[in-house]
Amino acid sequence: VGTQKTRRGRLKKPFIKVEDMDQLYRPFYLQFTNMPFINYSTQKPCSPFDVDKASSIQKQTQVKLRIQMDGHKYGGSSVQLQLKEKKKKGYCECCLQKYEDLETHLQSEQHRSFSQSNQYEIVDDIVSKLNFDFVEYERDIPKKKRIKYSF
Ligand SMILES: [Zn+2]
Repeated sequence: VGTQKTRRGRLKKPFIKVEDMDQLYRPFYLQFTNMPFINYSTQKPCSPFDVDKASSIQKQTQVKLRIQMDGHKYGGSSVQLQLKEKKKKGYCECCLQKYEDLETHLQSEQHRSFSQSNQYEIVDDIVSKLNFDFVEYERDIPKKKRIKYSF
């Protein structure tokens, strides 16, 4: 196909290329505009790989600005929700399945049947060897009659 790019060439500098010595796997690369630089002038618990404070503050304000702009479009709360939802993406090791939204996946047929299966016996076996030494209270039963302080 004519539109397909050729997969040959040299990496643009600066870069890091890692490959296994037997050459059985695809190499992977990091290409930067700037290689990490040890910055001794950052304040103490900050990473020496932090870029200069001025530019990182600039970045933060840029992100804030974008959120504010989106906020005008969608309303502030929905932007926060969108940010939260992004975090909930992941991979379920029980179902061996990627999911876009954690809550939705937890409600799915496949996951629910796993969660109610006996696949957790291996955990229960270990738990059964532990000693339960908390004080166990009876369940609070809500009293129907409220104590009246009137005469
Ligand atoms: Zn699952």
